[in-house]
Amino acid sequence: MRRIAIGGIAHETNTFAPIQTPLNAFTVDEGEGIIKRWTGTHSSLGGVIQGLQDSGYEVVPLLYATAMPSGLVTAEAYQTLRDHLVGQLASFAPVDGVLLVLHGAMVAQGQDDCEGEILEQVRAAVNCPVVAVLDMHGCLTQKMVDAADGLVAYNQNPHLDTYERGLEATALLHRILEDGAVPTHAFRHLPLLLNALTTGTDREPLKAIHKAAQAARSDARVLSISIMGGFAYSDVPDAGVSVLVTTNNDLPLAQRLLKTLTDIAWENREAALDTGIPVAEAVKRALSSQRFPVILADIGDNVGGGSPGDGTVLLRALIEAAAQDAVVLLADPDVLQQAITAGVGTEIDVSVGAKVDDWHGEPISIRVVVENLTNGQYATSGKDHFSNVYGRAVNMEGCARLRHSGIVILISGRKTPPGDLEQLRSQGIDIEAQKIIVVKSTIAFRGAYEAIAGDIIEVDTPGLCAANLTGFTYHKLHRPIYPLDVLNSITEYRTTQS
Ligand SMILES: [Zn+2]
Repeated sequence: MRRIAIGGIAHETNTFAPIQTPLNAFTVDEGEGIIKRWTGTHSSLGGVIQGLQDSGYEVVPLLYATAMPSGLVTAEAYQTLRDHLVGQLASFAPVDGVLLVLHGAMVAQGQDDCEGEILEQVRAAVNCPVVAVLDMHGCLTQKMVDAADGLVAYNQNPHLDTYERGLEATALLHRILEDGAVPTHAFRHLPLLLNALTTGTDREPLKAIHKAAQAARSDARVLSISIMGGFAYSDVPDAGVSVLVTTNNDLPLAQRLLKTLTDIAWENREAALDTGIPVAEAVKRALSSQRFPVILADIGDNVGGGSPGDGTVLLRALIEAAAQDAVVLLADPDVLQQAITAGVGTEIDVSVGAKVDDWHGEPISIRVVVENLTNGQYATSGKDHFSNVYGRAVNMEGCARLRHSGIVILISGRKTPPGDLEQLRSQGIDIEAQKIIVVKSTIAFRGAYEAIAGDIIEVDTPGLCAANLTGFTYHKLHRPIYPLDVLNSITEYRTTQS
């Protein structure tokens, strides 16, 4: 029986966030602990485990570490996890294949390309095929491409296909091991930087390129196509859009498809200019909407992109507008503690939100009623954009339901993205009865909320994930790049087209 080692380190690093990500921010599973937590989950790792078992392979679990998107990973955290992963692999060698679950946009102190280095070290430790699953928000590098036999990125944003991509990665490994497929890559970066809003796969520019890629996949010579939206909130050279085409020993075909796909992306580049609706207009529209609930997407405070989830800009606007039947969830462990101390039924004065950094508005001083307190734990219903972080069980580390006039403010002990409706339902919120729900998310919330939303308004709020990229100072990003350097990048792209 063939033995396949599995594991990985997954983190989406917002390098603009002022607070670094330490080792204890990661959930780390080792050996059988990986199988126990991730088997049967709708995550990449769940798909990998299932796919390998279906192939009749022995699964050799190493280490899997994941954390919510946040600031630069400390050198200590990164090196500890990397060394442990590679060390475990060496101790289990020889194996017949390695299947990793990575992100692609992990940045550590002193290392801009964590996945490139991890893949290189894994490659050096074994003499067998190495395949990895990536988030399509990864910043793909030549180093990553060179070190891997195959890279399989999510096709969907919201990421509802993570399990399927895990299965696809195992199928690719299977073709290499059993059918003798020879992975042959064509890879290219475009001078195109997408804000988080425009990395949605049901809108341009990614929608058109995915449509073409899907048609190309019907060719049996095509092993895999990864379309990376990139991650604009990571100041690394390769943060923009990239495409990787992998064929079975057919370089001309890979190059031809690559040109077709990158041309489509470039032709649709103006879609990158969408930054959502200004706050005042968004709130006005929400209040006058006749379709409920209205979902206000707080783009700048997108928890899934590394923001703190305590931004107050929309809450303040809703209070000033005297909104009724509105719900906002903020992470604020201090206010949670205050509510717990005071107890259910009491009235307290709080200074809520905007405490982690200076990017997300000012704290709001208000009087609230403590309506309810819970331990903040809930189970997701299955498909969830964040299944690779949580698996199934989500822990908000406590939650208080506070009321200020017509607005319910949920206060969690830790930032938790809106990947599943159970997040609010578990706190006694009747979602369908609300008029306005603020979600700290840009695209990911759609996986859960699109089905019940009367209206969705994407709000151009300030923050670490703001859609307007001109507010970020890039030092390492490869320039020129559209839309930051509009004219230059067009010239550059045309002159470098092969
Ligand atoms: Zn992503």
